[in-house]
Amino acid sequence: MIDQFGRNINYFRISVTDQCNLRCIYCMPDKGIDFLQEEKLLSFDEIYRIVKIGASLGISKVRITGGEPLTREGLPKLIQKIKTLPQIEEVCLTTNGILLEKYIDELIKAGLDRVNISLDTLQHERYKQMTRGGNIEEVIRGIKLSLDGGIKRVRLNIVIIKEENDDEIMDFVELAEKNPIDIRFIELMPIGEGKQFKSVSNDEVKEIIMKERELIPYIAKNKSLGPAAYFKTPNSKGMVGFISPMSHIFCSQCNRMRLTSEGFLRQCLHWKDGIDLRKMMRDGMEDKQLKKIIAKGVYKKPNEHGFKKDCIDEDSKRMFQIGG
Ligand code: SAM
Ligand code: SF4
Repeated sequence: MIDQFGRNINYFRISVTDQCNLRCIYCMPDKGIDFLQEEKLLSFDEIYRIVKIGASLGISKVRITGGEPLTREGLPKLIQKIKTLPQIEEVCLTTNGILLEKYIDELIKAGLDRVNISLDTLQHERYKQMTRGGNIEEVIRGIKLSLDGGIKRVRLNIVIIKEENDDEIMDFVELAEKNPIDIRFIELMPIGEGKQFKSVSNDEVKEIIMKERELIPYIAKNKSLGPAAYFKTPNSKGMVGFISPMSHIFCSQCNRMRLTSEGFLRQCLHWKDGIDLRKMMRDGMEDKQLKKIIAKGVYKKPNEHGFKKDCIDEDSKRMFQIGG
């Protein structure tokens, strides 16, 4: 699907729940969250229906996220079903990794291609503090099992926050040097709880790394690496990536649409509009009409996110609600 600015949109990012088993300080408040009632969540059949229509329009890659996607019961079954669609080349998962050890075998059997694990610190006590109670041991076991189970690529997503974890940048680089794990530094975005913390730009992160290591640009053979700029340090096993939505807007290369857990098709992480596909499906709309609406929604994708403009994200959803 080509949008109004000529971008090829082939990627659906799907949130399957707004619930989470952690409370990362920059993502979720500790208390007082109005989670969606079950009947408001898209069912797996409804999600599959939208992916199938998307696939017929040119979607070839799907990422499952949340909230914490592994807290949604039966997730491997959804992945398995999506994998039956011939046009879908890749199904990936973004998770905090806590439940990976429980589900990794089922996920691999279901055909999961890649897993991104969010891990902002390598220190036990700090992990507990930053996630409000998480046990890093569970995540580490999940990472090892994913590598042993033959998942094609394991990536760590790291958000560096001033005075929280900015002293661990080189520890993560060393982890990628010693293990076949890619790490990606993602800039903190001013969404929800994120507004209360001080971000560290990826230019600053790079500067810190380059004081100690050479960063050799990695030129991707295919485009599946997305908006990240990747580098290697000499002799490292994994890559070091930078995703810089705030300091280096990469919207001109954006290839994704988002589907929230309540069934809104969103053209951008930070934008005022969305299309209520759940209502349309539950009102009995047929596939042909849905397909037209999805295609029109894709076409109208905005050229840039609204973080630095006056764009008011009217329903002011947070990352765990939209699907990060
Ligand atoms: N629970 C899963 C996880 O943590 O990987 C999936 C959902 S979580 C919302 C997806 C990603 O969003 C995580 O990597 C998290 O670090 C990131 N995230 C959450 N709030 C953010 C913010 N304000 N700015 C940048 N990234 C954020
Ligand atoms: Fe949960 Fe992921 Fe948000 Fe942390 S970043 S609170 S794990 S949704």
